[in-house]
Amino acid sequence: MEPAGHSDSYDPNLMERLLFKVAKKWVAGHSADEAIAAAKDANAKGMAAILNFLGEETSKQDEVESIVDEYLSVIERIGAEKIRGCVSVKPTQLGLAIDYEMCLANYRRLAARASELGQFMWIDMESVKFTEDTIAIYLELFKRHKMIGVAMQSYLRRSASDLLHVLENGGMVRLVKGAYHEPEEHAFQTRDEVDANYSKLMKMLHESANFFAVATHDSKLIDEAISFSNGSQFEFQLLMGIRDELKRDLVEKGFSVSEYIPYGAQWLPYSVRRLRERKRNLLLLARSLVQD
Ligand SMILES: Cc1cc2nc3c(=O)[nH]c(=O)nc-3n(C[C@H](O)[C@H](O)[C@H](O)COP(=O)(O)OP(=O)(O)OC[C@H]3O[C@@H](n4cnc5c(N)ncnc54)[C@H](O)[C@@H]3O)c2cc1C
Repeated sequence: MEPAGHSDSYDPNLMERLLFKVAKKWVAGHSADEAIAAAKDANAKGMAAILNFLGEETSKQDEVESIVDEYLSVIERIGAEKIRGCVSVKPTQLGLAIDYEMCLANYRRLAARASELGQFMWIDMESVKFTEDTIAIYLELFKRHKMIGVAMQSYLRRSASDLLHVLENGGMVRLVKGAYHEPEEHAFQTRDEVDANYSKLMKMLHESANFFAVATHDSKLIDEAISFSNGSQFEFQLLMGIRDELKRDLVEKGFSVSEYIPYGAQWLPYSVRRLRERKRNLLLLARSLVQD
């Protein structure tokens, strides 16, 4: 995108700065300090915090190592600063796109330290080419560390059978709709189908899970989660910067709520997914471009 009439003075950094103006409502900032401050803010509002260091599809081993170090240091800070919270980690950040065994070994390091400090750890779910391996890694970790959960996407046709498999093993799931573009062969394509599958999977969780997370901003599904609940142990999870009044309302009603707080320099792919989810966000972006 080039501003009209200024092709020779096009400044990609300016474009990135303008995009960041919009994106910063969804991300805590570039540094761990900003993420920790946002986590304390969530705690003060009655929510737990789930911290995610942004980045995905890491292809270099030295980058993977520095991501592992970053998460280890955030896990330490959550403990030292008495934050009610945990981390959520994408498999391709820990090397799944490079080597399965390396990724598993990296998760083991994080899981070991998190569990020593009494912290939960979540595994995010990425695009469908990583689903099989992500579930295998999760179940492998879960044999040893019980405070770990994995995200599962209701837009995937395979998710009901994956969920059964995880539940048979006593595992813990964060239910989401799914944020990637997937082909019809793998994913439901209409909103109605994705929502209907969400309801179906949520019912399975209510009936069989020890603990699970309902991660959506969709009021209809949140109401459904409340009305299905029959003593089942679950929490709501919502993203930073989205539906803050709903978060407040759920906390006031006594529900457990966690806020997912991403941070780091790699904010662009995450922010593009948030932009795509809602037409109004594109208007927000357009307005901020015009205003500058
Ligand atoms: C805690 C958490 C963790 C997640 N982890 C993963 C994961 O591991 N893997 C994965 O694929 N996906 C993950 N997601 C993203 C998820 O898959 C969806 O892409 C995202 O939550 C939007 O879907 P929705 O359930 O909110 O429903 P939608 O039908 O998209 O939205 C319902 C309503 O919520 C509001 N809303 C939704 N999105 C936005 C937005 N961007 N800006 C403003 N308002 C909005 C609107 O009012 C909208 O009408 C996660 C989501 C949450 C909340």
